[in-house]
Amino acid sequence: MASIRLEQVEKVYPNGHVAARDLDLSIDDGELLVLVGPSGSGKSTAMRMIAGLETPTAGRIWIGERDVTGVPPQERDLAMVFQSYALYPHKTVAENLAFGLRMRRLAPAEIAERVRKVSAALDLDELLERKPAQLSGGQRQRVALGRAIVREPNAFLLDEPLSNLDPKLRVRTRAELARLHRRLEATMVYVTHDQEEAMTLGDRVAVMNDARVQQIGPPMELYQRPANIFVAGFMGSPEMNLYRCTAARRDDRALLTSGGFRLEVAAAHLGTDASDAVVAGIRPQDVELTTPDQTDMGAVVELVEALGNDALVHLALGGAGGAIDLRAIVPEDRRPRAGESVGVRMRAERLHFFDVTTGRRIQGSASSV
Ligand code: ADP
Repeated sequence: MASIRLEQVEKVYPNGHVAARDLDLSIDDGELLVLVGPSGSGKSTAMRMIAGLETPTAGRIWIGERDVTGVPPQERDLAMVFQSYALYPHKTVAENLAFGLRMRRLAPAEIAERVRKVSAALDLDELLERKPAQLSGGQRQRVALGRAIVREPNAFLLDEPLSNLDPKLRVRTRAELARLHRRLEATMVYVTHDQEEAMTLGDRVAVMNDARVQQIGPPMELYQRPANIFVAGFMGSPEMNLYRCTAARRDDRALLTSGGFRLEVAAAHLGTDASDAVVAGIRPQDVELTTPDQTDMGAVVELVEALGNDALVHLALGGAGGAIDLRAIVPEDRRPRAGESVGVRMRAERLHFFDVTTGRRIQGSASSV
């Protein structure tokens, strides 16, 4: 396997649309990097440039020690797996697995050996004589993966490979893929719009938005220390509560207010810039509900959704008029009723603060200190 490196890559499509800016990515040999972001953020463009299906308008791409910027796709020795499996419908699973190798004129014994190994690894032995129409969606996707693996490529490029599968199968195939990645020690770039898939699968995750990488790091780092408002809102489910607050400083304290949101924090959390506004964020998991008399932040329960062990509570913070939305996760056995008045407590050490102008995380953020 090989490492992959993008250096200051830019892509401007002929119609003037900029789909990648200042793209710097470095994927280690054997690493699984997930590119995640909303639709249109430039993930597929980045992937297609690595594959050689699109040419960057600036910057360089390296595979291992080789500069492949102008090298055609077939000479990059990368295996791509898309959501549409594109198996040959009239060939059996075994023939589908062997076909690419036959085209490359490998010796029949070598082909048979590689197909045998992949079939064992992916649990395809029982299916080898079937045609694609006789397989389930998950089995077809395994064959598509197998066809990529038998080639023994420099790296794998996977573009939303699981999005055609139903939710249960998706979770199972995702776990299989993670195991396979570890076993093969394969370099993989994985594109998805699903933050949960990114969190569970990636060694590292690159969050993209607006043609740029917003942050890159291990999943928990993105979750615990999002670099800006976009990453804070995108990673984590249910979404982080974010409020643009007025910050009134007095001595070493600051009172943050926004509608019914009212919280006093150490001024040091807001950084050195003496701005009188800040964006505060708190995850639903870090909000506690109490009885109304236990805190001075009150809310009315609007809706409760069951999640299994927990419930997601939608609240109007500050009561009627000028209220703002707040989401909280509570244990199912402590779920309030719709219409009930409750008190709200936020774990101060779990607050995130962002600059209102740049959207960047403020280094003094409570969860950074
Ligand atoms: P993602 O994979 O994150 O959904 P894409 O990389 O497919 O995003 O697209 C990024 C942006 O570039 C989108 O706004 C898309 O409309 C645009 N785009 C993609 N391909 C082309 C093209 N061939 N010509 C012009 N614009 C394109």
